[in-house]
Amino acid sequence: MNIEVINTGSELMLGRTLNTHQQWLCRRLADLGYVVTRQTAIADTPEAICGTVREALGRADLVITTGGLGPTSDDLTRDLLAQMLGRPLHEDPQILEKLHNYFASRKRVMPVSTRVQAMVPEGAIVLANDFGTAPGLALSLAPNPYRAGHKAWLVLLPGPPRELRPMFQRSVAPLIRQEFPHSCPYVCRTLRSMGLGESLVQEKVEKHLGSLVSRGLDLGYCARPGRVDVRLAAGVSEATEIVTQAEAIVRRELGHLIYGTDDQELESVLVETLTHRGETLALAESCTGGYIAHLITNVPGASQVLRAGWVTYSNASKSDALGVLPTTIATHGAVSAETVAEMARGARERAGSTYALAVTGIAGPTGGSPEKPVGTVFIGLAGPNGVETLKQNYPTDRETFKQLTAQHALDWLRRKLA
Ligand code: AMP
Ligand code: MG
Repeated sequence: MNIEVINTGSELMLGRTLNTHQQWLCRRLADLGYVVTRQTAIADTPEAICGTVREALGRADLVITTGGLGPTSDDLTRDLLAQMLGRPLHEDPQILEKLHNYFASRKRVMPVSTRVQAMVPEGAIVLANDFGTAPGLALSLAPNPYRAGHKAWLVLLPGPPRELRPMFQRSVAPLIRQEFPHSCPYVCRTLRSMGLGESLVQEKVEKHLGSLVSRGLDLGYCARPGRVDVRLAAGVSEATEIVTQAEAIVRRELGHLIYGTDDQELESVLVETLTHRGETLALAESCTGGYIAHLITNVPGASQVLRAGWVTYSNASKSDALGVLPTTIATHGAVSAETVAEMARGARERAGSTYALAVTGIAGPTGGSPEKPVGTVFIGLAGPNGVETLKQNYPTDRETFKQLTAQHALDWLRRKLA
């Protein structure tokens, strides 16, 4: 099966918007067992839109476009493609009513330009937009005018990620499964790990998976800073059995290094575990500047778990807000096991939480010394049994440093609770 994704938007060409749809759609499709053949990003011009879609239809069974369904003058996709395919546009009263309700419920006047979003090319399936105004559209081209003897589907999705993503999950994925059924079951499982680099993960698991690979297991690794995902997939008649056996092997080899499956994030696993145990958390952050609190508060239900967080960047604030003794800082330094221990203890006491995590480090590029080079970070964990500290070194850029530090702190607590 041949799938092409076309991302429209002049902002993509100008480097003003990162083309996240490209990755997100390919990833969702791959998880469903459909691998994209070609991706194209183009500007919002009639020549680019019509030319690219026409060419793609000349090769593909499924073409997905993103963007250009909105109400502004650069949103041309719907009109252009309807015209190109000879499908007159009709105003859909149900969409129009939804648009009126959308604005009424927000106590806003509906701009006249919005109305074009109720226009539907003849024969198109309307894909409801639960998070915005422009519905998506799916057109069955049978026959496909640009590829003799073939049929095709053309799916038009809106640009904003928070609209496109739920629409894909709710309407497009079921449509694709129905219209392009696999001849064999397709099973995909991702196991997410922390604590070992990509090659070490591979070294540990691959030698045990050879026979499953020969039976059809597709094995993949995806490394991100501090983490490695192991992707196990199969599209053969015994796919379920193969992937289940592979998962058991990887779990046996990696054990507690695995923190989650599929799209689970470390912070959600931790919030879930703490909620389940009826326990709470406090945070005392220096070098991460609140990033750990940001990650935790991204998780729905974080209020059950997070009591309080402090960003104590200066020495004075470490003492004033958390009760770190000035002599501790003077003797051992703000970046030290002693200071991080007092930060964690102070945060736990003040928040009245079960646990507290604290971090203090040197993000760089300046501020390092021979005994504490740039990248040095201390993590403290206070709990019912006292305070522990550990030292890490992440000599990298500031943003990656914050990510690695935050992940390590969260993972340390996760492993303690496992
Ligand atoms: P549009 O419907 O094309 O006007 O897109 C609306 C907004 O969605 C744009 O201003 C971008 O912020 C966002 N957007 C559009 N295309 C993409 C894309 N490929 N990746 C990420 N965001 C996008
Ligand atoms: Mg646009």
